[in-house]
Amino acid sequence: MLPICREKQRQLSRQYQQQTLAHAILIQGIEGCGKDALAQWLIELLICQKPLLAHSTTELESIVSACGQCKACLLRKSDSYPDHLLLKSENKTLGVDDIRRGNAFLEKTAHLGKVKTIFIPQAQIMTVAAANALLKTLEEPSANSYIVLITDDLDSLLPTIISRCAVYAIRPMVGEALLAQLKSSSHGEVKLSSDVSLHERLNESAFVNLSQLAELTDDAIFQEYQTFNQCYLDFLYLGQSESEVLSQLVDNKHSLRWLEKITCNLVRQYYLVKEAEKAALVAKQEISAQVLNQIYQAIISSNKLIKSYTQANRQFVGEQLLMTINNIVRPST
Ligand SMILES: [Zn+2]
Repeated sequence: MLPICREKQRQLSRQYQQQTLAHAILIQGIEGCGKDALAQWLIELLICQKPLLAHSTTELESIVSACGQCKACLLRKSDSYPDHLLLKSENKTLGVDDIRRGNAFLEKTAHLGKVKTIFIPQAQIMTVAAANALLKTLEEPSANSYIVLITDDLDSLLPTIISRCAVYAIRPMVGEALLAQLKSSSHGEVKLSSDVSLHERLNESAFVNLSQLAELTDDAIFQEYQTFNQCYLDFLYLGQSESEVLSQLVDNKHSLRWLEKITCNLVRQYYLVKEAEKAALVAKQEISAQVLNQIYQAIISSNKLIKSYTQANRQFVGEQLLMTINNIVRPST
């Protein structure tokens, strides 16, 4: 287990022992951060019938692990354990049929173990239909079932999926070291030319990963991001700046990801704020979480379209997307 995963491993161990593990566990981190090994350890632990407690001399908390010798562990090692299902795809996407297979698997009672487990190693390649099928299971989890998902691209997942999972984000050491260096190179108090501190930029972005460092570290790109952000919000809430948004969608390679990120953050606000504050937020913004979710799904579909067809015409996809968003927000016009 990589050192950067240890904290999450201890946390999951503790929750396992206290029987407070969530039914759906989403592990997020960039490629190579060790999330695969962490997920593997967790699944083996869930399957094992006689887990072992390994007391660490340096840590107050201990880590539980699969014994590797019980009947369940032996069957798992020989790939013949009946109560676990791996849902992965050799294709670019994980389709609705795969998820339905998983749902059917969970509905049957366990053959051998006390729990049933499903592992989805690349959650971000789920199609929108697949994600919606999974959503139903996440909303009404069957007893003693666990779904472990991992992803290196949290922004590609529907916010509704994320909100129903316990998310364990693994922060890459290289990223933190990089950011620490950025801070120290500017003598502590970082003030960039745009007069926005790096700290504020990081706070602004709820989930930072290395792919977002462009706008976090490059002033020119950050300015573009801010301009785009404003144009997009004007478009969304006031019906203005459509042509500016479109030209950015066509010419700026970051723009579609930004569109996802901004919309996702708008949706997250609804899930993160207290119930009492929600009404005020709705009154102020006049766009409901449901509508934002529809927009978000449209953006994800467009993004997948552009990613899966190299020849996709950005102008066409951009025009279609903005028309779709317009129809969602202002159905009467
Ligand atoms: Zn075992």
